[in-house]
Amino acid sequence: MARYIGPVCRLCRREGTKLFLKGDRCFSEKCAIERRNYPPGQHGQTRPRFSDYGMQLREKQKVKRIYGLLEKQFENTMSTANRMKGRTGENLLSLLERRLDNVVFRLGFATSRAEARQLVRHGHFLVNGRRATIPSMLVRAGTKITLAESSRQITRIVGALEALERRSVPSWLEIDKDNFEGTVKALPVREEITLPIQAQLIVELYSR
Ligand code: SF4
Repeated sequence: MARYIGPVCRLCRREGTKLFLKGDRCFSEKCAIERRNYPPGQHGQTRPRFSDYGMQLREKQKVKRIYGLLEKQFENTMSTANRMKGRTGENLLSLLERRLDNVVFRLGFATSRAEARQLVRHGHFLVNGRRATIPSMLVRAGTKITLAESSRQITRIVGALEALERRSVPSWLEIDKDNFEGTVKALPVREEITLPIQAQLIVELYSR
C-alpha cells in the first residue's frame, strides 16, 4: 500500500503543531516546530484565516498525517467508523488506534509510527504467535504482539524500548519488556486517546 515519502517536518509546520513523525528528533531542539513554527512556503508567515470548511479540512489532514494514512485509506476507515454502532468520531479514533503499526509504536518497539510500519512490513512481529506483515491489521482485546526471536538484537528496537520512559504506554496496552511482548488489555476508549484531535470536525467534514 502506498505511503507518503516526502519531507515530514513540513507536515507538522502546515498543521502548526508537533505530530511526532520523526522519533527522537521530535524531542530535540532540532525539531522544525521549535525553530520555524509557521507554515511552509512563500506565504507561510502571513496570518492564515480559516473558514469552517478550512478548519474541518485541517483537522482531517492532521489526523491522516499523525497515523500515516493517505486519502483513500482514511476514507475507508471513515466509512467503517460510520457503519459501526456509537459515535462516528470515537469509532474513527478507536479504529486508527487499533492499527497494528500504531500499537507497535504505542508499545514502545519503535520511536515513530513510520518506523513501526516498516518493522511490521519486514515481519519482525508475531500476532498471537503468527507472523503479521500488514500494518493496517486491527488488533482486538486480548491480542498478543511479540517481537520475533531473531529480531531481539536489533539495536533500534532495543534502543526504542529503553527510551520508553519518554512516552507512557496507554492504559489499554501492557508491555512486558523482558519477554518483548505486548498485550491489548481492552479496546481503546476516547478518554484514553490523549491526542489533541477534534474528531467532531472530521465527522462534520464528511457529512457535507
Ligand atoms: Fe514534527 Fe518531529 Fe519534525 Fe518536529 S521533528 S517538526 S515534531 S516531525
